[in-house]
Parts: sequence; structure tokens; C-alpha cells
Amino acid sequence: VRAAIGIDVGGTKIAAAVVDEAGAVLGEAQRETTAKDTHTLVTDMRACARDAWARAAERGGPASLDDIAAVGAGIPAQVELDGTIPHCTNLPYLVGSDVVGRLADVFGMPVAVENDANLAALGEAIAGDEPTDSLVMLALGTGVGGGVVIDGKMLRGPHGSAGEIGHMVVLAGGPECPCGQRGCIEALVAAPYVAGRAREGLCSSPDGGESSLWQVDGAPDEVSPEDVEAAARAGDAFAARIMAETGGYLGAALSSLANIFAPRRMVIGGGFGMAAADLLLPAARQAVERDALAGSRRGLRIDTASLGQHAGVVGAALFALAARDEGSQTNEAGRPTEGT
Ligand SMILES: [Zn+2]
Repeated sequence: VRAAIGIDVGGTKIAAAVVDEAGAVLGEAQRETTAKDTHTLVTDMRACARDAWARAAERGGPASLDDIAAVGAGIPAQVELDGTIPHCTNLPYLVGSDVVGRLADVFGMPVAVENDANLAALGEAIAGDEPTDSLVMLALGTGVGGGVVIDGKMLRGPHGSAGEIGHMVVLAGGPECPCGQRGCIEALVAAPYVAGRAREGLCSSPDGGESSLWQVDGAPDEVSPEDVEAAARAGDAFAARIMAETGGYLGAALSSLANIFAPRRMVIGGGFGMAAADLLLPAARQAVERDALAGSRRGLRIDTASLGQHAGVVGAALFALAARDEGSQTNEAGRPTEGT
């Protein structure tokens, strides 16, 4: 079986999996990371990958690390075609460091690094329950990652930094985003901002006073995204309004994306997006139905990632295999030949 290792790096944890060329997970592992520098992170990634390989081997997967064809890694950062990282809010020490080179040294095999959400979109497009050549993915967690697969290719742009859907402005003059802009979709629908809006609304909005969220220990300051979700499900009108409003903002972004890309599928992933999908998607679908052009939403399916949290590792592994097939040793997949 031809297989690669896919690694998904988050702010505080790493997931790795051995994935075959059809996108099936043969073995997987997770570990926490407290890395504050690239060297430690790469060491943790290697350890996590070894755990995943050991699990796969137990189950009849590749018997030796030599049987692994390539390593792909998704990181929460803008990644240029040569592997350079110009911007990374979550892991700032990665900016300017040679992650691809260090990973290639440590693993001794071809390595490809890409933005995590781009890879999740690729994984879902190729190996999801309904494979497609056109898909837009939004991963809602502590931030909002975005990925676009269009006409069977992951959208990367001339430098590799395309697809930053999280910083699409959907509310001009809206809340401040870590990128410095206001009203980005990230600042409206990522988990910390949803909780922030709830905490604010508890004190200032007419329906906030009656909310059961006041019973949360330390309310309003300690109200978490999970508290808002739970209250909304339990019938709290204020919490339900906050979640529906969040779904509406998500729908505004999806409507614009539908008009631009007219994809077959739009997929919500990420920890918060998957957990709160039942609260977010009704309002989001309604907004798309109302606002997107009829031709843009024809046959469009909007739902959660069928690969769930595996989308990232599967996409990373498949991307690494494709990069290897294109004959590049590091991170060159999809790069056009200069001067043609
Ligand atoms: Zn932003």
C-alpha cells in the first residue's frame, strides 16, 4: 500500500495519521505541544508521526518508516509556495523559519507544507463522502481557516497565500480582528468572538438579563463558547439568538463565496464549527437561499466536513503524495514553471 504521513498542527496540539493513497486513515495519534520554537515543534511533530506509524503498523499498515512515501504538514499560517511563512498569528516563531527544510532533515523523505485549512479542503474534496472537484471549506475554531478547491485544484495563488477566507469582511466597521481589519468573518464567527458577543450582550442587550447564562460560574466574564451552545440547545432565547446571528454572519460569507466560486459543496469544519453546526447551519443555509444568486447556489450542498477532524491529516498526506508524484522534493507541488 502506498502511504504518506499527514500532520495537522494546531495552536496547542498536533495530530498525525498514516493515510493511504485512497485517503483511508491506517493509524493515527495526537499529542499536546507546548513548543515555543521551531526545533521543539518539529521534534513533537516527528514523535506524533512515529506514534501514528506504530498504530498503523499494529493494524497491518506499512511495516517500516521506509515504506512511507512522503510527509505532508498543515499549519495554521500563510504558507508560500516555497514553504516560507510570512504570517502566523498562532505560532509566531514560525515566521521566517525553514520549517520545510527542518522537517525534511528530521524525516529524511520528501516533505510538503501548506496552510492547514487549504489541506482540509483538499482532503474533504478528494476523500469526503461525496468527492468533488469544487468545494469551499471554512474551519471554525479559535480563528477561521478557509480553503478553496476549484476545478480539481487547491487554490493557492501566485505566492501560495490565497484562500484566507477568514479575513473576508462581512460587516464593514464591525469588531476588530487580529489581522488589524474590522468585521472579518473570523471576528464574527470564531468561537472566542461568539462567546465575547454573548458576554457583552448579557449586560447590554434587552434580552440578556433573563438569560440562563447568568448562572454560569463567574458570569458574565467566564461564559465560554460551549456555555452559549449548551444554553441555546436548552432553549435559552438569548443564547439561541446569538447562535442564529452567528449563523447569519456565516451565511453572509457563504453567499458571497457561492457567488464567486459556485462550488458543489460548502463545508464547515473545525472544532467549534463541527460542534455547533446544528445551531449555525439553519440560519446560514437560509441566508444563502435568500442572498446568493440562483445560478450560484444551484445543486449546492452546505454541511459539515464528512471527514470531521480527519480532513486536515488526510489532505496533508494526499497533498504530499501528489507533490512527490510531481517530482519535487519539498513543497513545490502546483508551482507553475517560470517563464512559460
Ligand atoms: Zn481579519
